[in-house]
Amino acid sequence: MSDLLGIHVVPQHRGRCALEVRVLTDGSIALDKSLLVFGKYFGTKYDAVLNSLFIRSGNDRILVDTGGGELGQAFIQVTRPNGRNLINELQAIGVSPTDITMVINTHLHWDHSGYNSAFKNAKFFVNKEELRYAYSPDKFMKNMYARSTFDFGLEFEPVSGEYKVVEGVTIIPTPGHTVGHQSVLIETEKSKFIFCGDCAPLKENIERRNIPGITTNAIQALESIDRLRSIKGAVFIPGHEESSLGTL
Ligand SMILES: [Zn+2]
Repeated sequence: MSDLLGIHVVPQHRGRCALEVRVLTDGSIALDKSLLVFGKYFGTKYDAVLNSLFIRSGNDRILVDTGGGELGQAFIQVTRPNGRNLINELQAIGVSPTDITMVINTHLHWDHSGYNSAFKNAKFFVNKEELRYAYSPDKFMKNMYARSTFDFGLEFEPVSGEYKVVEGVTIIPTPGHTVGHQSVLIETEKSKFIFCGDCAPLKENIERRNIPGITTNAIQALESIDRLRSIKGAVFIPGHEESSLGTL
């Protein structure tokens, strides 16, 4: 199912891992499409949706990425039909921000960590190198980080490499877009989903092996895309394109 705001819902899936998985969005930002695909689309404007993933697993309520938040407006205009943001999207499915027990940030760019401060009871799973880099980014990446999204006493669980968060939810390191980018593999009894973040902001990044337009390391970016492609039978959820979870 899908509505105009890009909410995609799958029925609660009770299987080996007892996971409920939903794609939520925090609106969209208009940008030059060449920022999403290396060497293509110069001068083409694109409405990039800000995808997050909500996962319910037992008593845990997990959110992957937290949109552009209010901060987004200071960086670039975030368009939200009817003012509907990520917090509203959660509330619409009966989840309050304080119910979230874990947040996985694919990386700490502002448009993936914007509402971090709303999740006061959550533990934050961020790659160790990403966290280090976010405090002192290179000049060319400086505008993508905002300390207000991570530097205020959050409870961090620094992650190195592959990491099982709960049964059926595994962090996969996918550096290249940033130094410590990570994607998330969700496995239910019948299905596999991969939340790509900006390893693949669009479907075409993964389908055509086109690296993102923004990278800290282009070779790593391609290796990371290939790593995700090697996980067979998965539905890929790109970071910035409307996506369906497919049929379970
Ligand atoms: Zn990014």
